[in-house]
Amino acid sequence: MSKSPIAEVVFNIPLEKAFHYAVPGAIQDALKPGMRVAVPFGHRERIGFVTRMLSRSPIAKLKPIRRAIDPVPVVEGERWDLAQWLSDYYYCSFGEALAVLVPSALRLKEPDDAALKTAPSREPALELTAEQKKAFAVLKKALASGKPEIFLLHGVTGSGKTELYLQAIAEGLKDARGAVCLVPEIAITPQMIDRFRRRFGDEVVVWHSRLTQKQRSRAWWKVSHGRCRVVVGTRSALFLPVSRLGLVILDEEHESTYKQEDVPRYHAREVAKMRCRLSGAVCLLGSATPSMESAFEARRKKNHLLRLTRRVSGRTLPKIDIVDMREELAHGKRSGVFSTRLRLALERVVEQGEQAMLLLNRRGFARVAQCTSCQEVVRCPRCAVPLIYHAASKALVCHYCSAKEAAEDLCQTCRKGYLRFRGLGTEKVESEVHRMFPAASISRMDADTTKVRESHQALYEALREERVGVLVGTQMIAKGHDFPQVTLVGVISADTSLNLPDFRAGERTFDLLTQMAGRSGRGDRPGRVLIQTYCPQHYAIQAAKRHDYEGFYEEEMAMRKRVGLPPWTHFIELMLRGRSQDRVQEAAEALGKLLRRRLGKDSAKGTDLLGPAPHRIPKLRGAYRMSLILSGSDVMEMVKQLRQALQSGRRFRGLPVTVNVDPQ
Ligand SMILES: [Zn+2]
Ligand SMILES: [Zn+2]
Repeated sequence: MSKSPIAEVVFNIPLEKAFHYAVPGAIQDALKPGMRVAVPFGHRERIGFVTRMLSRSPIAKLKPIRRAIDPVPVVEGERWDLAQWLSDYYYCSFGEALAVLVPSALRLKEPDDAALKTAPSREPALELTAEQKKAFAVLKKALASGKPEIFLLHGVTGSGKTELYLQAIAEGLKDARGAVCLVPEIAITPQMIDRFRRRFGDEVVVWHSRLTQKQRSRAWWKVSHGRCRVVVGTRSALFLPVSRLGLVILDEEHESTYKQEDVPRYHAREVAKMRCRLSGAVCLLGSATPSMESAFEARRKKNHLLRLTRRVSGRTLPKIDIVDMREELAHGKRSGVFSTRLRLALERVVEQGEQAMLLLNRRGFARVAQCTSCQEVVRCPRCAVPLIYHAASKALVCHYCSAKEAAEDLCQTCRKGYLRFRGLGTEKVESEVHRMFPAASISRMDADTTKVRESHQALYEALREERVGVLVGTQMIAKGHDFPQVTLVGVISADTSLNLPDFRAGERTFDLLTQMAGRSGRGDRPGRVLIQTYCPQHYAIQAAKRHDYEGFYEEEMAMRKRVGLPPWTHFIELMLRGRSQDRVQEAAEALGKLLRRRLGKDSAKGTDLLGPAPHRIPKLRGAYRMSLILSGSDVMEMVKQLRQALQSGRRFRGLPVTVNVDPQ
């Protein structure tokens, strides 16, 4: 048995287990829980978190800690409790939860630059409208109370939600309370960051995944030392050590990018609510199209609803028209990209020197490459999904695993027929616009054109300075931008998102159309929106045309209640994967049996199990995938049952199991 001092250490691995290490004399006094240490682990060195100091261990010979990484704890207090909750709710080990709170490359030391002044450069706040004033008064009272409260700010596009955020943050700062404002993805931040910097000067820290390691460490240092009390960033900004946190804002709270794809698969909205509860802070969820979850909670009085029903400066919402593409077909038009109406509207905009945005929620040139002879579609050999043709690189690309192959003319299967490209992508739309309006300046904004750091910023500048007349893009262009010269928005196909195999397809379509329409007519000239679709009667499209959120909500929630979908229940998706299709199938069936037996017990009443069934991507990177879905009202209870059913390391019969709580 080892005698003191001993440190208990956890790692960023799926094991729930903690490990013991001897603490060398040199760091004995300084070492505290919440600090990271480098230790020998198997044949290599690993970095772990100290969770406890112990005076004894049942293990006779302990390896010593090699060195401490941090001079002070990097996780403590309410953030420690937050990690515990993450582990319990999202089913991950405590080590995995701690790791998400601290960037792995973080090194704490005082920055060497002198750019740490705290003199804020202010511009005066804007005059609030009557509606904004009313909402602000409610927020002000909540901020002063110091009690955790959740608000849903439902405001139509252009109703001045951002101004309200800024004034609420300023209100908190008066009392020296910090704020975090989350934005859904880095692509939309430049304009937002400008506004924050103009208002709060050097108080602002920007946080997102494209920061360099050095920028990251510097930002962390400023926040943890209270030099900067306003954080603007993507979802992981939630985990920064803001002291005296008073306000957390989620802009566009309905966005699916708030869900983390890797372990722990958390949703920023839920984490924000928990962080506010632990810190006595106000949580403000803002959206023009609130998620079904948040709107449902507002109806059940679990959050307070604030409404902004009018655009600022009395601007009207744009007129939305639906173009029935079936009629275009009936009239013998086969181009498939532009209806006559959209082409004429675009022509007018180009002639008048105004700006237009064209949305197609698919990148690439064509959807599938198909043989004219054997009809075979070219698929990714590892994922079995059709490869997408990208004209710029003349390559076929897998959008799941990024595998690339040269686009041959000849079919490689029958070696007789030629490949024909079908279906639409943004690249194809861009080339069509070029063909129709050779003199217009056209740009494209999607994942392919914004890979490089700062490239999004450059596109945004070009549009603001009106060097670009027509912007073609994916949903990336629908979000948050405010360009007063945009008078026409064209949705090339509303059906791409409507036809996704996803229970949120209707919600996503309504959101996208509403957000996209909101980009039009933000200046003095009225805006116009044309939506092309083959399903003009779908309620999501009809409600978007009427600017009718309530109408959409009623139909959508009724449908979800009938079928037993969230938010009427919670889903936990389990996915097993492996190289052998038979083994995956057998394991999935056995896990289903085991869980059904467990769920039969009293403690887990009200839960249900669906599946096993092939995952919606049944094969990825050479691995076969099966999924099961647990459905029930009590997530913590379901996770507890799962912890007992699965082996350590989230495995079943030797196969890795992915656990996704509240999948998007
Ligand atoms: Zn062929
Ligand atoms: Zn692939």
